[in-house]
Order: sequence, then structure tokens, then C-alpha cells
Amino acid sequence: MKYSWQRQIILETIQEHKEHLSAQQIYGYARERCPHISLGTVYRNLNTLADNNMIGRVGMISGAECFDWDPNSHEHFYCRKCHKIINLDLPEGELNALIKNVPGLRIEGHCLTVTGVCAECASKE
Ligand SMILES: [Zn+2]
Ligand SMILES: [Zn+2]
Repeated sequence: MKYSWQRQIILETIQEHKEHLSAQQIYGYARERCPHISLGTVYRNLNTLADNNMIGRVGMISGAECFDWDPNSHEHFYCRKCHKIINLDLPEGELNALIKNVPGLRIEGHCLTVTGVCAECASKE
């Protein structure tokens, strides 16, 4: 992967926040450091970083593609009330065993998001 200072800024932005951010949010933060960066550049570099396993993909969360500072395979929980995304560390072996019940599939990775209400929001109900 060829070095690009814009990509470096995007990578640092996502690593500093240690949150699950949408491309739009990353664009907002990156613009504070690099006012002329375009949304297209941010999208392109996020995809390059994810393809090279330097960041992770969360997938689509309420219509926005979200990215992860942690490229290691893990699952997510999305709270529909406060819109928080929480990491879930599910035992990969057990998950794969469930999937193996579907014949003929070769598992290469997971991108699983469970939705519901987080503990904090549930306690306020
Ligand atoms: Zn919540
Ligand atoms: Zn995550």
C-alpha cells in the first residue's frame, strides 16, 4: 500500500477516538486537521484501510457505514435508543459450530451486529 498522508490522518483519527464511527463522523474529525479533504477521499481511504486490515468494518448501522479502530474479528451490539455500538466477544468456535449446521458454507470471517437496548438504557425504562 502506497503511503498517503491523507490516509495517515484518517487512520490516526479513527485510532485516537477508539470508537465505532460512521464515514461521515470520520470526515468531520479529519476536516479539523485537514480542511480541504473531501468525503470521497475519506470513503476511498477507509475502504483501502479496511481492505488492508488496518481498521475493521462494522457494516451498515442505521443507514450509515461504520468503521472500527480494532481490525480483529469481533461482533457488535447496537443500542437502538442511545445509538451506542458495543463490542461483543462471542466465542468464535461456538459461533462457527452453529453456522456449520448450514451445509456447504466455508466461513472466512464474521460481521455480525445484534440490536436491542443496552444495560444503561434498559435501567432508565
Ligand atoms: Zn443505550
Ligand atoms: Zn468493534
